[in-house]
Amino acid sequence: MTDTDSKPTGTPPTNGHKDSKPATVPHVVIVGGGFGGLTAAKKLGKQPVQVTLIDRSNYHLFQPMLYQVSTSGLAPADIAAPIRDTLHKHKKNTRVLMEEVTGVDTQQQLVFMQNQQPIHYEYLILATGASTNYLSHPEWESRSPGMKTLADGLEVQQTILGAFEAAEKEPDEKKRKRLLTFVFIGAGPTGVELAAASAVHIRHILSGNFQRIGPGDARLVIVQGPPRVLPTFRPELTKKVEKKLKELGVEIITGVHVTEMDERGVTVGDEYIETENVFWLAGVKASPAGQWLGAEVDRGGRVKVQSDLTVPGHPNIFVIGDTACVMQDGKPLPGVAQPAMQGGHYAASVIADRVAGKQHQEPFKYFDKGSMAVVGGTYAVVESGPIHTAGFFGFIMWVFLHIYYLIGYRNRLQVLLSYFFAYFSAFRRKGGTRIIMLGRKQAITYQQQARTLDKPEAHTLDKTAT
Ligand SMILES: Cc1cc2nc3c(=O)[nH]c(=O)nc-3n(C[C@H](O)[C@H](O)[C@H](O)COP(=O)(O)OP(=O)(O)OC[C@H]3O[C@@H](n4cnc5c(N)ncnc54)[C@H](O)[C@@H]3O)c2cc1C
Repeated sequence: MTDTDSKPTGTPPTNGHKDSKPATVPHVVIVGGGFGGLTAAKKLGKQPVQVTLIDRSNYHLFQPMLYQVSTSGLAPADIAAPIRDTLHKHKKNTRVLMEEVTGVDTQQQLVFMQNQQPIHYEYLILATGASTNYLSHPEWESRSPGMKTLADGLEVQQTILGAFEAAEKEPDEKKRKRLLTFVFIGAGPTGVELAAASAVHIRHILSGNFQRIGPGDARLVIVQGPPRVLPTFRPELTKKVEKKLKELGVEIITGVHVTEMDERGVTVGDEYIETENVFWLAGVKASPAGQWLGAEVDRGGRVKVQSDLTVPGHPNIFVIGDTACVMQDGKPLPGVAQPAMQGGHYAASVIADRVAGKQHQEPFKYFDKGSMAVVGGTYAVVESGPIHTAGFFGFIMWVFLHIYYLIGYRNRLQVLLSYFFAYFSAFRRKGGTRIIMLGRKQAITYQQQARTLDKPEAHTLDKTAT
C-alpha cells in the first residue's frame, strides 16, 4: 500500500519513508518528468516544500537524440535517464510516482491518476509536453510512426531494419523497390535530422551486408509542405542543408502536401510514391492539460498562460514547456527544450519565493540560446546569436552548446563524455545497435497500445474517483 492509499483524500503525502511524519510544508505536485518538470523538481528539491513528481514513464527521455535510436546509433538506455536516479539527491523532500495522470480538480486542488487515489496539491506544475499531431488524418497514425516517444523511435528503427530483411528475401524487383523506399513527411529539425541520419545509416548497412540489395537500391524522400526545409532557419542555411541532404542521397520535395496514404504508398502532389515506410514528422499537439483545467488553449492545444506562467484564475497552477503557450514579443515561444527548462526554473523560483513570504516581481523572460540540427554524421546547422554556420564547426558547437545546455540534470562532463563515446563508437561500428527485437507488426501493435494512453478520452476528469 502506498502512503497516499493510507491517507484521507487531500492530505499532503509524506516523503515515502516509513517513519515520515505528515508534511507540514506546502505540497508541490509536478506532472511530467521531461525537460520542464525535471528542472522544476531539481530546484524545488532544495526548498522547504514537499514535492511529488508524477510521470507515466520511469525515465526522462532526451528527445533531441531520439533519431540516433531510430538509426541504430545509440541504444534506448543511452538517451533515457531514470527519473529516480536523477532526483536521488533530493529524496528527502521529493518522491517520484510512475503513474498516468487523468485529470485535475482545480476547486479541491486534486490530481487524478489511473491507478492511484487522487492527491492534493498546494501548488501544481503541469509539464506534460506534446504528442504527434496527425492533423486532419488521425487514420494515418497506424501507417506512419511519429517521433516523440521512445516507442516511436524504436518503431522507426524496427521498420527500417525490417525493410532490409524483407527486401533481401523479395525476388520481385518492383516490390523490393517499394520495401526500400523511405518517405519522411515534414522537414523541420526532426525530419531533417532523421532523414539525414537514415541516409548515412542505410548506406552503411547496405554496403556489403546483403547479397540481393545494395546502397543504390534505397530511395529516401523528404516531403515538406512549406516552400523550404528548416523554415525557421535563415534561407542561406536552408540552401546549405538542402545541398547536404542531396549529397547524402535524400530527394527533397517542397511546397506540396501528402494528400493520401495507403498500405502501398503515399500521394505527394501529382506523384504516387510506392513505399511501405512512411514516417510522420510534421507536427505535434499539446498534451490534454488544457482540458483537465478547462483553460483557454491555442490552436495547438497549448494552455494560454500569464506572464508568470500561471493559468488565469489559478495563481497556484503553472503550465510550462511544450504544453504551454507563452507569448513573448508578440509571438509564442517555440516548442523546444530551453523554454521548458527555463520555465521549470522560473515556476520553481516563484513557488520558492511565495513559500518564503516574498513577492516574485519579475515576469518570465525566455533567453533564446539558438537553434541547431545535425544533418548526417558530423555536419550541423547552427543559428545562435551572431553565429550562423553549417558544417563540421556547427557540429562541434552542437555537441558542446546543445548537449551541454540541454542536460542540466546529470553531471555535465560525464554526460558529454558518454554521448561522445556512444556517438563516435556508433560510427566506428558502422551499423550501430541494429538488433531486430520485435517483428514489425508486433512493434506497431505495441506502439498503438502506448498511443491510446495519450488520447484525450483517457484523461476525462473522473470526479467519482474522489
Ligand atoms: C525527435 C525530437 C527531437 C527534438 N530535438 C530538439 C533539439 O534538438 N533541441 C531542442 O531544444 N528541442 C528539441 N526537441 C523538443 C524538446 O524535446 C521539447 O521541446 C521538450 O522535451 C519539451 O519539454 P517538456 O518538459 O515540455 O515536455 P517533455 O520533455 O516531452 O516531457 C513531458 C513528460 O510528461 C510526461 N507525461 C505526459 N503526459 C502525462 C500524463 N498524462 N501522466 C503522466 N505523465 C505524463 C511524459 O511521459 C514526459 O516525460 C525535440 C523533440 C523531439 C520529439
